[in-house]
Amino acid sequence: MSALTPEQQEVQDWAREFAARCVTPRALELDRNPASPVREELIREGARAGVIGNSLPEFLGGMSHDPFMGAIVTEELAAACSGCTVLFGATMLGLSPILMSGDLEKIQRFVKPLADSWETDEPRLAALAATEPGMGSDFILGHSGASPRTRVEKKDGGYVINGRKVFISNGSLASLVTVFAAHDTRGPVRESMSCFAVPTDTPGFSVGQVFEKMGQRACPAAELLFDDVFVPADHRIGEEGGGWQLNRSILSVTRTPVATIALGIARAAYDRALDYACQRVQGGQIIAEHQAIQLMLADMATRVEAARALVWKAAAALAAGQPSIVLSSMAKTFASDAAVTNASDAIQVLGGNGYMHEYGVEKLLRDAKLTQIYEGTNQINRFEIMESVLAERGL
Ligand SMILES: Cc1cc2nc3c(=O)[nH]c(=O)nc-3n(C[C@H](O)[C@H](O)[C@H](O)COP(=O)(O)OP(=O)(O)OC[C@H]3O[C@@H](n4cnc5c(N)ncnc54)[C@H](O)[C@@H]3O)c2cc1C
Repeated sequence: MSALTPEQQEVQDWAREFAARCVTPRALELDRNPASPVREELIREGARAGVIGNSLPEFLGGMSHDPFMGAIVTEELAAACSGCTVLFGATMLGLSPILMSGDLEKIQRFVKPLADSWETDEPRLAALAATEPGMGSDFILGHSGASPRTRVEKKDGGYVINGRKVFISNGSLASLVTVFAAHDTRGPVRESMSCFAVPTDTPGFSVGQVFEKMGQRACPAAELLFDDVFVPADHRIGEEGGGWQLNRSILSVTRTPVATIALGIARAAYDRALDYACQRVQGGQIIAEHQAIQLMLADMATRVEAARALVWKAAAALAAGQPSIVLSSMAKTFASDAAVTNASDAIQVLGGNGYMHEYGVEKLLRDAKLTQIYEGTNQINRFEIMESVLAERGL
């Protein structure tokens, strides 16, 4: 951590204090009961403290944290509870198409009112809706044969959207959804989609199933239904037909935060295992003195350092305005695999206690698993790494 500047250190202290005061005490309750009133409290506190919008520019009420600062904040939050971190972070994901479009008028119209609401007792959230029942990885890769079922038609000076999205983080809490829909559902997906901002009080929009999740339970994942949802033409974000490309740009920025969430889980697993191993006595000595435990702890510590090195490199590239799908995918695959392995090993170090809910370590394994799936599965991330590597060789 010594590589941090004083300003970055200050941001880290701020995030760590917020996590210890507001997130840690609520993490187990929200894992058990995601719809607990505690969730509303946490959202209000995260919004008011500036945690939700820390990366927004100051004219939108944010702190202008660059992606490197963002990574420092996210690691601290995720080490406390990754589900709570996504509960905060899904809003910026939802706003990302609008922010990345660079359209100032739309930023003022859609982002500003949300950001203003974070000062109030009724903070409003956003969500991004890309995934469909029949289209997950294909949406990311844009395979020529694939086509989304959510469709959009031009009508009466605007657009009418029909379709269904699934697994949308914060979908059931959002007051604004950015949704991808196809002008021609026969594809090709890379040219047929556009993105739209849909206020969730628009007639025809509804929330379907809220899924029962294995981990990261503090953040709801919902099915969203679009039944003849009309939006005016100026709700289209970016170029008509430019939706897939816009989503690609978003992924090159949002994959690093997911890698950072995984890093936070990997670190929490290591910290918990080390603390326990330094106290638990078996065979007449603390278990940290048993070589079998030391081997596990050494590997866990190494994974954390290696994951952080990759995450910081990817975040620094983003901060320098050079988003790299290769670096962010490397960070995401490595850190998420490290999170799963460290969480599993932490349970092993804690023995029977590690398997019990009250210790909060089995939660880390359930939480970690998701980081290998969303923002592109790790298989898809690896394809993307190799696609770029081979492209550099002209293949
Ligand atoms: C809790 C949760 C929250 C989420 N939040 C959001 C959200 O906020 N917004 C949103 O839009 N989406 C969200 N997602 C969706 C997520 O991004 C997708 O689940 C993910 O991209 C995988 O898609 P899929 O589930 O359809 O799996 P599939 O694409 O069906 O993949 C199934 C398996 O097949 C493999 N596979 C797929 N294609 C290939 C291929 N071409 N070659 C080899 N193997 C392949 C995959 O690696 C995987 O192992 C969320 C998902 C979850 C579980």
